[in-house]
Amino acid sequence: MLSRIKDIAANLAPRLIEIRRHIHSHPELSGQEYQTAAYVAGVLSSCGLHVQELVGKTGVVGEMLGSGTDSRLLAIRADMDALPIQEKTGLEYTSRQTGIMHACGHDVHTTVGLGTAMVLAQLGETLPGTIRFLFQPAEETAQGAGWMVKDGVMQDVSAILALHTFPTIPGGCVGIRYGALTAAADDLEITILGESGHGARPHEAIDAIWIAAQVLTTLQQAISRTHNPLRPVVLTIGQITGGRAPNVIADQVRMLGTVRSLHPETSAALPTWIEQIVASVCQPFGARYEINYRRGVPSVQNDPALTQLIEVAAHEAWGSDRVQLLLEPSLGAEDFSLYLDHAPGTMFRLGVAFPDQPNYPLHHPQFHVNEAAIVTGVVTMAYAAYKYWQN
Ligand SMILES: [Zn+2]
Ligand SMILES: [Zn+2]
Repeated sequence: MLSRIKDIAANLAPRLIEIRRHIHSHPELSGQEYQTAAYVAGVLSSCGLHVQELVGKTGVVGEMLGSGTDSRLLAIRADMDALPIQEKTGLEYTSRQTGIMHACGHDVHTTVGLGTAMVLAQLGETLPGTIRFLFQPAEETAQGAGWMVKDGVMQDVSAILALHTFPTIPGGCVGIRYGALTAAADDLEITILGESGHGARPHEAIDAIWIAAQVLTTLQQAISRTHNPLRPVVLTIGQITGGRAPNVIADQVRMLGTVRSLHPETSAALPTWIEQIVASVCQPFGARYEINYRRGVPSVQNDPALTQLIEVAAHEAWGSDRVQLLLEPSLGAEDFSLYLDHAPGTMFRLGVAFPDQPNYPLHHPQFHVNEAAIVTGVVTMAYAAYKYWQN
């Protein structure tokens, strides 16, 4: 079976590169993936899948029905959106949209999703269970997965698989991570409310700028003393505004930031912990505060059995020197985690680095992809899907 999957994928390689370049040169922003979605729906229909459009706003779902001998339903997820970045790769198939670029490899994810459907369709064999292909919008704004889930795409799903391109892993290699893959990312807004007064008479006022400074430093110091250092938390205040004039004591300071963590228990405790610190700093000086803690996406926690399924499939397909076990998670965020509230799943990293030229990080205007990775992704995904029902 593996050699048949590899043969079909190898024959499809030129077509897959064509698909990827088409998507790459026609990028669309989060929530506006109309052309990409129509294109995806067209390819899925041509493979004989049952296709539903406008799921999760601009998402597409394609179903490949199994024989029904196994009731387990496997979902495979790809994301379709691009970023507001002006591409500077100089490639012949560079973005045709000014200021929009596939700089996160979602063009590759979409192509691998389509390629997996094409390969499995060409196998000429009905799988025991059904595969549902999810092409979601708006991953970059962490909204698309939620929209898809709300529209019921996780109904009856037993397991879900996904991948993400990774520019520090060589093209043709696969990165496997057990446990936490990405962080929970929440938005934090703290407003310190003091009392205005003359800059020369601080004792008659409540200085919101000075108290905000205490809050900021206390938060950063307290992280290192109150959280388990093996369970990381990153709190970054990236924006701060307050004050009106050099000689007027500020009555209000607003701080905006992002909070990242890896462990679900840590994540759950963070809003209360932050409020305790802010309250303890404000209280002695008579300042008031408002905190707005908005939950973003949770951490992606890869399921052990499904991660092993991918690892074994990749090992059989490519040999051990092309499979890397990743020792560290990322403090980036992925809305794939929202599907994992409904079924176990795993996301693996698809290496896209070139051996002989500079490689750029994700979200960089010169980010580029070693297209050899596409076949690696398709074979790994298709073979893992095939093996899913053998277990
Ligand atoms: Zn991204
Ligand atoms: Zn991404």
